[in-house]
Amino acid sequence: MQVSNDYLYNEDKKNYLPTFKRFPLAFIKGKGSRVWDADGKEYIDMLAGIAVNNLGHCHPKVVKAIQDQAAVLIHVSNFFVSPPQVALSKLLVDLSKLDRVFLTNSGAESVEGAMKIARKYAHTHGRGGRIISMENSFHGRTLATIATGQAKYQQGFEPIPAGFVQVPFNDLDAVKVQMDNEVAAVIIEPIQGEGGIIPADLAYLKGLRKLCDENNVLLIFDEVQCGIGRSGKFFAKEHYDVQPDIMTLAKGLGGGVPIGAFLCKKKVADVINFGDHGTTFGGNPLASAAALATIKTILEEDLCTAADEKGAWITQRVKEMADKYGMINEIRGLGLMIGVQLDRPAAPLVKALLDEGVIANATAETVLRLVPPLNIPQSDLEEVMDKLERNIEKLVSEKNG
Ligand code: PMP
Repeated sequence: MQVSNDYLYNEDKKNYLPTFKRFPLAFIKGKGSRVWDADGKEYIDMLAGIAVNNLGHCHPKVVKAIQDQAAVLIHVSNFFVSPPQVALSKLLVDLSKLDRVFLTNSGAESVEGAMKIARKYAHTHGRGGRIISMENSFHGRTLATIATGQAKYQQGFEPIPAGFVQVPFNDLDAVKVQMDNEVAAVIIEPIQGEGGIIPADLAYLKGLRKLCDENNVLLIFDEVQCGIGRSGKFFAKEHYDVQPDIMTLAKGLGGGVPIGAFLCKKKVADVINFGDHGTTFGGNPLASAAALATIKTILEEDLCTAADEKGAWITQRVKEMADKYGMINEIRGLGLMIGVQLDRPAAPLVKALLDEGVIANATAETVLRLVPPLNIPQSDLEEVMDKLERNIEKLVSEKNG
């Protein structure tokens, strides 16, 4: 058996549900901002497992935390607590300045839980359960989370759960007209991720907070993609100085180990009774230990500041390319959550970069998404930007020539 890219790609095709359009590559090793495929080719990872590996691959502190915990206790049921779960819960509550946390295994599961408790709160206060979400948003691929999002993810999966309505992003009036006694919550990504890296406007989020307060409607921030240092602050909400009633996390939380969370204010937690929600794996000691090590390392190594500085450097560099070559309409984002809006589909550029050993991805068709590890060395960024510039120049001259 030859464990090559080809072999693994084709084996996978025989067995895996054909829902992912995969590149014919298999990755077998990662260290810092670099990964290696099964044929031995080295890549700089500007995608970081889709904004997951915020500390890069196999950070020694995360590896050690996982190894140490695995040797002691891997799993215990939620009838009991464990030291890493207790410590992680306290740390998340302290950092978020929210009051209670529930640990999950993914982003979609965090959003599902957040919407469930929002409904319980609303019903306890004599309100309906409708949830307002944003057009172009993304909150996951389970049945209720697709109900919040883009129509393209709903097709073929009808009936879509009831009680959801979408309004345009960054438009306060559109939310205002929906506000009645049937509404339980508004859910929003402070920075839309899958939708093309689009930050909410400052006045809009502040207005949304005020509008929700006036109507006793809960405000849910989905920080699954923009949280955990990604945006240059530990939580994206800090850019806006707006406190949500409920917040969801996942992706970067576990340094690559599957774990998510939702947090809420005490007033929301107060409506929850024993048995209202549950999970087998959420808060698992192994995942919790990984998350604890990840968070502590991000804070100790001041990687929020690093994300902010590196993001500013990339933005400046891409702006220069836009001025020089065209093809780039806009560069958006905060920290190391960057979207390069092209005037054409981003897939050919993604493919060209991949051939040259740089992993990025295309989101919303025409946006090149750059979400590298927060600790990526400057020399790697310079190499990536040189390759990006060369390929942009090439694509522009091909079109003109
Ligand atoms: N919310 C947001 C903002 C996301 O970006 C994602 C994943 N792209 C999710 C939720 C769903 O997370 P998961 O894939 O872990 O279910």
